[in-house]
Amino acid sequence: MSTARLTINLYTLASNWQALDAKTSCETGAVVKADAYGLGAGPVSAALAEEGVRNFFVAAAEEGAAVREAVGPDATISVFSGHMEGDSDLLRQHNLTPLLNSSEQFRRHRQALPEHAFGIQLDTGMNRLGIEPADWAALRTEIEPLNPSLVMSHLACADEPDNPMNRHQLRVFRELTDGSAAPRSLAATGGILLGSDYHFDLCRPGIGMYGGQPFAHAKPVVTVDLPVIQVREVEPGESVGYGNSWVARRKSRIATVAAGYADGLHRAIGGGIDAFVADRPCPIVGRISMDLITIDVTDLPEDPERLRILNGHQTVDDLAEAAGTIGYEILTSLGARYSRGYIE
Ligand SMILES: *Cc1c(COP(=O)(O)O)cnc(C)c1O
Repeated sequence: MSTARLTINLYTLASNWQALDAKTSCETGAVVKADAYGLGAGPVSAALAEEGVRNFFVAAAEEGAAVREAVGPDATISVFSGHMEGDSDLLRQHNLTPLLNSSEQFRRHRQALPEHAFGIQLDTGMNRLGIEPADWAALRTEIEPLNPSLVMSHLACADEPDNPMNRHQLRVFRELTDGSAAPRSLAATGGILLGSDYHFDLCRPGIGMYGGQPFAHAKPVVTVDLPVIQVREVEPGESVGYGNSWVARRKSRIATVAAGYADGLHRAIGGGIDAFVADRPCPIVGRISMDLITIDVTDLPEDPERLRILNGHQTVDDLAEAAGTIGYEILTSLGARYSRGYIE
């Protein structure tokens, strides 16, 4: 093994999806945008389709092709960015359902693909994507007879259960959609955990399936193993790595492993993060470089061949906290250099 290895456990991913699905009495879809949060849209979508998922969501039409190939012709694949200029061929070829975000997108869609399914995304206060309430009021009578596949909106603060924004957006969503015959969707992972008021007809979790917060009961899905390139002895007073930021206080053994911030192990990851040999933690010392990380293995009985940085003890959220970011960003920055393996 000469490159770091990323192992994705499709079995725990499926069980996380099942656990989220069990919290709702509505249908549960799956968000597989950004290459399934960096874990591989093809294998992840195929595993979820096998688990019974019928509704997939991607960010852009380009992402839909790989998902379609993985899930077959029957599942619905919806596109959050809607129907953008130049998307018509992709939408038609891969039978993707755009979630239209503006009256302009609605006109474009009706003109380019008049027979093609579409959904509607409404803005309920996040001010990021979606048709504004005033525009919806003007368009609703024209759109509803065309049977949109879904009417959806997105919560801005669902990871904070007590934030009043949740209730506010729920109220606005109801005002905009009560009486509509179309299936409705408001909740991602956070919204599922807020309770059944937020579930409507379809939930769309992402991060919880991939093992991240705010789903506290998520099982870890990824492990990352780092191959040791060399192990050296360092005398007390000698420093390790760029900037001499770590100085040995005792005679130490330092393992240099082949991975770094170019592999999404952010340079900002500070103290308190370990690399493991089985259950045994070894502290990361010195700065994380682009391709190399140094680890204090002095207390191990023998020099290791590899160390594991993501495992059941230390999760994407632990790395995120140490780097001052969120688990979503750790997952999506893991990058292309890993050799990847899937546990089915
Ligand atoms: C990313 C996204 C989701 C999934 O969110 P998670 O927090 O990962 O569950 C759902 N809906 C929309 C519109 C999104 O952009």
